Amino acid sequence: MSTARLRLQYRRYRLPFRAPVRTAHGVWTHREGLLVRIEDPAGRAGWGECAPLPGWTAETVDAAEGALRELGDGVEETTLDRLPLSLACLRGALAAAREAFVVPPEPAALGVAALLPAGGEAPARLAVQAEAGFRVFKWKVGVGDPADELGLLDELCGRLPAGGRLRLDANGAWERRIAERWLERCAERPIEFVEQPVVAPPGASERDRRRAEDLLQGLAASYPTPLALDESLAGDGDVERWLAAGWPGFFVLKLSLHGAPESTLAALARAGARVVFSSALETRVGAAHALRRAWAWPGERHALGFGVWPLFAARALDGPAAAPFLRREDVLALDLEEAWNALA
Ligand code: MG
Repeated sequence: MSTARLRLQYRRYRLPFRAPVRTAHGVWTHREGLLVRIEDPAGRAGWGECAPLPGWTAETVDAAEGALRELGDGVEETTLDRLPLSLACLRGALAAAREAFVVPPEPAALGVAALLPAGGEAPARLAVQAEAGFRVFKWKVGVGDPADELGLLDELCGRLPAGGRLRLDANGAWERRIAERWLERCAERPIEFVEQPVVAPPGASERDRRRAEDLLQGLAASYPTPLALDESLAGDGDVERWLAAGWPGFFVLKLSLHGAPESTLAALARAGARVVFSSALETRVGAAHALRRAWAWPGERHALGFGVWPLFAARALDGPAAAPFLRREDVLALDLEEAWNALA
């Protein structure tokens, strides 16, 4: 249906989180974004989500909504493919809404990382989640005083179940010296990776971006604990640039932020990259598309970064409650139309 005329609708949302989300980016109380619905001439409908993430993307919900308003409610398919590259989240949403929702038959389930709260509540929470069967845990650092957080590291490691591993996510909050202190401490501890120890914020000058990237490469080469990129991958072409630079660590992918996730994933697979599929704190619509792609990933498997639900006050926008494994049936059961209708 390359020249088909499509019906395009969108609904903007502003959804309060059940509990505020605390990271080095600050405290978030709600999520803003857009759901899109596309219907083809045969009456088949699909849904996609455009949820730019403040601190990651230069794209905004206002800009995406402006573009949708301009497109109007009847569009040629080819028009959708000509949107500017700067609207990556919107392009990704419109592409997802036109793709069949197919989840490969295997694997039956994928492991999920448990999300720990920042600060001193983390050890007690880890113990509860270990009891529930989780084996991979993610802890947000760079939120409080580095000395206090470093002081908690051994307590967390001590509470890990047999074979358990910890992921640390600094959300780019550290300076070189703090990052070095942490990475010295992480060596020989069961740390799967340290995510985004430093970052150049979106809109940073080319020189600052280069400096942050050189620092990340230098840290990755100097310490045994792998590093992971997250914020560094949110811009168009970022994944390809890091692949070309031979990044040796993990790639944390919030696929809802990507304009052309299929080609990005193909490039990562060709390179044999280590990929972690992760939530962008989007609704079940964006998450469902990210998860069907995670299921199709041909490479090595790492615990999904989708231990976020329940996330919203509105149940119809959420995915299944966080559990040590996410089953294929859980992904297939995500009702995207119900999420769309909940915003009516
Ligand atoms: Mg992260």
